Amino acid sequence: MTPRAVLIVGESLAGTSAARELRALGHTGPVTIIGAEPHGAYSRPPLSKSVLKDPGADGTLGQDLDGLGIDIVRSPAIGADTSRCTVTTADGGVFGYDALIIATGAEARRLAAPGLRGELVLRTLDDARLLRSRLRTAASAIVVGAGFLGMEVASACAARDIAVTVVDVERPLERILGGYLSAALTARAEAYGIRCLRTSGFATLTGDPVHGVSLRDGTGLTADLVVTCAGETPCTHWLAGTGLADDLGVGIDGICATGVPGVFAAGDVTYRRADGSGPDRRAPFWSNALAQAKVAAASALGLAPAGAPYDDYFWTEIAGLALKVVGPLPLTGEPATLEGSVENGRALLTWNHPDGSSTVVAYGIRKPVTALRTLAKTALTQ
Ligand SMILES: Cc1cc2nc3c(=O)[nH]c(=O)nc-3n(C[C@H](O)[C@H](O)[C@H](O)COP(=O)(O)OP(=O)(O)OC[C@H]3O[C@@H](n4cnc5c(N)ncnc54)[C@H](O)[C@@H]3O)c2cc1C
Repeated sequence: MTPRAVLIVGESLAGTSAARELRALGHTGPVTIIGAEPHGAYSRPPLSKSVLKDPGADGTLGQDLDGLGIDIVRSPAIGADTSRCTVTTADGGVFGYDALIIATGAEARRLAAPGLRGELVLRTLDDARLLRSRLRTAASAIVVGAGFLGMEVASACAARDIAVTVVDVERPLERILGGYLSAALTARAEAYGIRCLRTSGFATLTGDPVHGVSLRDGTGLTADLVVTCAGETPCTHWLAGTGLADDLGVGIDGICATGVPGVFAAGDVTYRRADGSGPDRRAPFWSNALAQAKVAAASALGLAPAGAPYDDYFWTEIAGLALKVVGPLPLTGEPATLEGSVENGRALLTWNHPDGSSTVVAYGIRKPVTALRTLAKTALTQ
């Protein structure tokens, strides 16, 4: 195998997984990762779960690459020149590559006007530590956004007996999980002490420092802390002028190629370019970042990827309930119940889709992901 120099920008799940995969595929040439965070690589899903509860969890997040002979540079990339095949870092470094893997993920979308202080978000370990320290003394909280992250943060507040209101124009998780699960999870969240407020228009943040929201109907809410969980923005500033990125991120195809020769991408920075099977689509989940990292690594070496660049699996923890989902989303209509009942807080559910695929949901019930994958493949025949 030719020892090509592979440069990876972004030191997190997608970046470190791509590096590991390059070595697993037998690549012995130079691999360099350019990272931007002082903490190095760490896992983000626990940030809104165990880390908000327990400072001891901070030390369990690392994703190390010891012994793999990977060079790590900790200075953000500030530019790329795809004709010269170089990336420039903030400290003045210039790094050449034979193949480039873009894995710069995303940052939290903020709603506060520039210069306004006090808006809390949750994307990094530092964000989580700040939020955890504020949760210690807060008596009330507002969470803007009733997606997975917003509902997890609200659950952390309620678990500390903080009076918490989640505001969103949509019902909790309805856009992705559909009306059935949204209704069940909303009822559970309300019983857990989370007030879910559906608004007729987008909330704007008020105060400096931020201490509340103003709703379209003129209602104002205030609280000790306001956390924005309103989605993420792909980190593509450093790609300005390359034509590699647009508003959705870096577009990739089925082998994680970007369209620029020698440049591949993986993880939350990407979106899947429209093809015959659907429109442009972002899917910023842990399992997709991992699957894409493996595909991008193989493609960077000129090998045929062994797996698909998408893996329809994610999990969340809301109001004390663990949810695992395997299969295509969004969900619509009512599921078939294979085990238990949602009312009792433990159920195994399946949605059969018109195209022949199925989605399986473990609702408060312990099931290994492998078992859910098998079920999702066979659910239609049950
Ligand atoms: C709080 C939280 C909870 C989550 N929970 C779940 C969950 O329960 N289930 C699930 O499936 N998914 C969850 N996710 C999503 C999951 O963590 C992401 O899909 C995953 O982290 C994506 O990995 P990534 O490597 O693509 O991007 P990221 O993890 O965003 O990493 C990108 C890295 O690139 C760095 N970077 C950015 N710009 C530059 C630059 N110019 N130069 C160098 N480096 C740069 C960033 O600092 C960062 O370290 C959660 C995310 C968050 C934030």
